[in-house]
Amino acid sequence: MENLKAKAYELRKDILDMVYRAKCGHIGGDFSVIDILVSLYYKQMKVSPELVNDPNRDRFILSKGHSVEALYAVLADRGFFPKEELQTYSRYLSKYIGHPNNKINGIEMNSGSLGHGLSVSVGMALAGRMDQASYRVYTVMGDGELAEGSVWEGAMSGGHYKLDNLCAVVDRNRLQISGNTEEVMSQDIQEERWYSFGWHVVNAVGNDLDSLNLAFEEAKATKGKPTVIIANTIKGCGVSFMENSAPWHHKVPSEEEYQKALLELSERRASYE
Ligand SMILES: [Mg+2]
Repeated sequence: MENLKAKAYELRKDILDMVYRAKCGHIGGDFSVIDILVSLYYKQMKVSPELVNDPNRDRFILSKGHSVEALYAVLADRGFFPKEELQTYSRYLSKYIGHPNNKINGIEMNSGSLGHGLSVSVGMALAGRMDQASYRVYTVMGDGELAEGSVWEGAMSGGHYKLDNLCAVVDRNRLQISGNTEEVMSQDIQEERWYSFGWHVVNAVGNDLDSLNLAFEEAKATKGKPTVIIANTIKGCGVSFMENSAPWHHKVPSEEEYQKALLELSERRASYE
């Protein structure tokens, strides 16, 4: 587990490089969600480059598709495509564009238009049940994304069909592009909302791999209903001047900020070795 904690900081450096080189991206949300992706892709999900066409592979949808740099870093490290290709991120004619697309090995669904991932995940989970398949379905949403009405249609149907092969994660960093979620569209009673739609609710420390792994294990053990994990995260987690700062939703670091961020991430990484 200590290796994976170091890994999460190594991947943050890859994300920082991608965003700094391309001069675009969503670094705050990337750093918020990366530990969730590490837990899923290195511990929890049955996925690998060899299994991309296996009908029993677990399914993952990054519903908050603007955090695609984090997903690219993880998929490259897991060998779904060569890491060098990420140097073309956001360049003209590169397939590594600013939101997930399913032309890329390991990506199941185009996303980024918010509010769609949960409903598609419900469909995948229903299909799995019909086929008596063993796979599980995971989706990660942003907390700002929960203001989309279609999220709650997905919640309603997931609860109605008692989809215990479905696990949704809310990246609860309390910020969205336009500021604090509690000011834009309050979310603090969201646990009650999920309960009322028939979901099992688990709270986790969303930048702590031990807490996340426990939460995912609890989801797997929960029968007769879907599970949502409220992953309490820090936007920009890992770089002091990016943490809990709404402008870093899509700000690009200057050269000085890049060097400072790189140093901080290297120090954090070293603390796990
Ligand atoms: Mg957010």
